Amino acid sequence: MAQYDVIVIGAGPGGYVAAIRCAQLGLKTACVEGRETLGGTCLNVGCIPSKALLHATHQLHEAEHNFAKMGLKGKSPSVDWPQMQAYKTDVIDGNTKGIEFLFKKNKIDWLKGWGSIPAAGKVKVGDEVHEAKNIIVATGSEVATLPGVEIDEETVVSSTGALSLKKIPKKMIVIGAGVIGLEMGSVYSRLGAEVTVIEYLDTITPTMDGEVQKTFQRILKKQGLNFILGAAVQGVEAMKTKAKVTYKLKKDDSEHTADADVVLVATGRKPYTDGLGLEALGVELTDRGFVKTDGHWKTSVDGIYAIGDAIEGPMLAHKAEDEGMAAAEVIAGKAGHVNYGVIPSVIYTSPEVSSVGKTEEELKKEGVDYKVGKFSFMGNGRAKANFAADGFVKLLADKKTDRILGAHIIGPMAGDLIHEVCVAMEFGASAEDLALTCHAHPTYSEAVREAALACGDGPIHS
Ligand code: FAD
Repeated sequence: MAQYDVIVIGAGPGGYVAAIRCAQLGLKTACVEGRETLGGTCLNVGCIPSKALLHATHQLHEAEHNFAKMGLKGKSPSVDWPQMQAYKTDVIDGNTKGIEFLFKKNKIDWLKGWGSIPAAGKVKVGDEVHEAKNIIVATGSEVATLPGVEIDEETVVSSTGALSLKKIPKKMIVIGAGVIGLEMGSVYSRLGAEVTVIEYLDTITPTMDGEVQKTFQRILKKQGLNFILGAAVQGVEAMKTKAKVTYKLKKDDSEHTADADVVLVATGRKPYTDGLGLEALGVELTDRGFVKTDGHWKTSVDGIYAIGDAIEGPMLAHKAEDEGMAAAEVIAGKAGHVNYGVIPSVIYTSPEVSSVGKTEEELKKEGVDYKVGKFSFMGNGRAKANFAADGFVKLLADKKTDRILGAHIIGPMAGDLIHEVCVAMEFGASAEDLALTCHAHPTYSEAVREAALACGDGPIHS
């Protein structure tokens, strides 16, 4: 029986990062993973493959819509779907093998198989029981379907099936206008599918800033996506090569149907802790099945910690990673910390959408006196040159102190631009601090500075 300081269960971005940090801090560490490859949902069927397909189809969109305008003439590329899938698989392999290399480099034992916790301090994998002074539960999440909707991963698919469709559908219905639904909807729309998004709420991406939501929906509509909002899906009937969705419009209770070759159910994810034996151990769960933790990732049982999608908070890879590092540090006797007020979120469509901190709606609700600095990418030279001038940067700052409270960006490279604001917020910066920082020209990030200037005496280029 092997003995470890720490055994991490699950090798997603939460678990593998926790394992690496534990090893770096001198703890004898193992990580249990039941999948064939490391990297969890994110690397295998989440962030990485979806971004590969978004990248490939974005290039196609550029070729079809913008190349000729720049004097790049000739036939636009045609789609070789099996090759695009092979490219995606290569990207996954490169990333998952990278984690295997990091495990070897850091002398982390990969215990292959599905793990359970028969007692505190013990982890069972297959027939073997290993001892660990500390256990980190990093078992992630799984797809949450709608009641009465059965996923067959062929006609009615989850995000996992949507990443590996056998052929490009002519018609696709996406149920749920959240991040995953809109990213995958964009991919297939760019590939020529007629995509209709059905959403229960009256807006897309419900937690986003209201102004961003409206602009985002307008841009996606212009790109060809159809939206049916305020519609409650009643059921999905799968036929051999087609599926029929029945929905009721909330405004008048009228019932409608729509059919498609493929229906993507993108209504969210739920924590996955099956088979671990947590209840028997007395590890408390929330009503929604998340593992309950204190402020330091400790569960209700001594020596058992939990992180990532398995606990409450935004289901994001970087949130899981940060918790992984912090939990490792707490176990090693250091002061692990995650600032939950500064966790960015990004939608990798074109344009990208990103946000950090508070939305205007939240500030209003909290009664905070704030000011808005907004700058359109129409005033940004680089964005105009690159046919990427749709969108804006919106910065929210405290009216009295000028301290930055949030940022919401829709536009080119929004997912990268947001981090300048994240760093500023970590340092408790004011909008003026950003406005006084020299930004290279011509860059998209000048739009962030201009939004900061708009919080004060005004932007230059609008
Ligand atoms: P996971 O990544 O789910 O990993 C958990 C691992 O634990 C899995 O590999 C599982 O096999 C293993 N496991 C579970 N139980 C056991 C057991 N008993 N024994 C052994 N192993 C076990 N997030 C972003 O931040 N950016 C994005 O762009 C993004 N895109 C996404 C796109 C899609 C299509 C999807 C589905 C998700 C996306 N996410 C994105 C979310 C992101 O993937 C998750 O937030 C992240 O993977 C959570 O990490 P985790 O380590 O908590 O869990």
